[in-house]
Amino acid sequence: MGADQHIVMLPFMAHGHLIPFLALARQIQERSGFKITIANTPLNIQYLRSTISKTSTNSNIHLAELSFCSTQHGLPPNTENTENISLSEMSKFFHASSSLEAPLRQLVSDITKQEGRPPLCIISDVFFGWAVNVAHSLGTKNISFTTCGAYGTMAYVSLWLNLPHRSTDSDDFAIPGFPENYRFHRTQLHKYFQLADGTDEWSKYFQPQILLSIKSDGWLCNTVEEIEPLGLEILRKYIGVPVWTIGPLLPPAALKKSSSSDSSISKHGAGKAPGMAAEKIVKWLNLQKEDSVVYVSFGSQNTISETQMMALAMGLEASGKRFIWVIRPPLGFDITGEFKAEWLPEGFEERIKESLKGLLVRNWAPQLEILSHKSVGVFLSHCGWNSVLESLSQGVPIIGWPLVAEQTYNSKMMMEEMGVNVELTRTVESVVSWKDVKKVIEMVLDGKGKGKEMKKKASKIAEKIGRAIIEEGEEQGSSLLALDHFLRTTSSSN
Ligand code: UDP
Repeated sequence: MGADQHIVMLPFMAHGHLIPFLALARQIQERSGFKITIANTPLNIQYLRSTISKTSTNSNIHLAELSFCSTQHGLPPNTENTENISLSEMSKFFHASSSLEAPLRQLVSDITKQEGRPPLCIISDVFFGWAVNVAHSLGTKNISFTTCGAYGTMAYVSLWLNLPHRSTDSDDFAIPGFPENYRFHRTQLHKYFQLADGTDEWSKYFQPQILLSIKSDGWLCNTVEEIEPLGLEILRKYIGVPVWTIGPLLPPAALKKSSSSDSSISKHGAGKAPGMAAEKIVKWLNLQKEDSVVYVSFGSQNTISETQMMALAMGLEASGKRFIWVIRPPLGFDITGEFKAEWLPEGFEERIKESLKGLLVRNWAPQLEILSHKSVGVFLSHCGWNSVLESLSQGVPIIGWPLVAEQTYNSKMMMEEMGVNVELTRTVESVVSWKDVKKVIEMVLDGKGKGKEMKKKASKIAEKIGRAIIEEGEEQGSSLLALDHFLRTTSSSN
């Protein structure tokens, strides 16, 4: 592998994609010394630039702006990331993202001219099937990177290509590619997916893009070979191209339990200003008992409904357990706007503060620092894949509340395959009672029966994840071996 090789990377415009893409760029750089160019829209490049400048010293990771004008696609000005987009505008955003094809083509042509040969490959987001055409027509390879797990990716891919829920009146159905006896439920599909019939805007984006991605020269998957045997087996069989498991894309420092703040963890680069200083949170966590705290978060861009928020607050309080809750305005309000006291039970915040029972963190928390603290006993999570990996790498079991995307499949897999999750409810439409919240928290944290079993299984998975990225002398974990294998294969057949 010559160190003078160049790889172009193209993430989808969402934090849950930008963060693992950047982590992958760093990994490739560290292991191969290759030059990397991450291409994206100007505002996302700005975000990546500030993240990189905060965290690395001597990097060969370059950033390239691809021009993008959201208003040309009927979107509000400066809409370049899913974080401020409602589900109803999402399909418009997906279609708009295809306009990056021309500037990407230009970028790759410019690199080819400057360097006298095309880049080694384009690593494009699995959502950008069109990048396969760009790569192949410009004499290079395309590798699709799925930032999701194998099981979730498989469900997503097969659901879009087959729309199995449309050929039955029943609420539950099988998904082609999964074992016959695996049943999925209509409520595991978001409302636009439920209505998709191949002629709607969502299908019109995803069906051709997935078909193109399957024509990639290989896939990279942000998972660990040993933790998703079923998902990987069926995904590989279904798409028929090599799948390299190179996850979890977390910093090594995140892979040990700590009782105090580890500043290298924040180098993961989530890059947003937290609503409360990490030091303050860790200080509070240091006062709590081991495995006693509930951490509640719905990811980088989601929130729940007003009535659900009320039930969650009441349930948390009634459980008597300590908690850290990342709160945002509920559905229907500006998610980045001010948080109003009326969305929580009367006097809730004051009671929590006075009794030191919990911390309410506005909008954004240093999640990895929190999950890697030994006081955290369970993560009430929307089951976004990065959150899943972050939690399981720390041996923290999950109370699932999946909302959109492939989160419901992640939740199902963690319940049925891994046994580390109990699903409280799903979607923003569901009716949740505070009693259910209280019951599930008590069950997981009581240290007996199912809760104990979940914790044990989560710890086993943490060990497997830790081993996958180990490098000690001659011994290398499966994810490092896969990354090296991917780099060798791609370089040698060039
Ligand atoms: N995150 C964070 N603080 C927050 C919320 C999210 O650091 O308050 C990070 C989290 O650690 C994870 C990412 O943002 O790395 C969220 O990705 P995930 O796949 O879990 O969910 P998404 O936001 O894509 O729905």
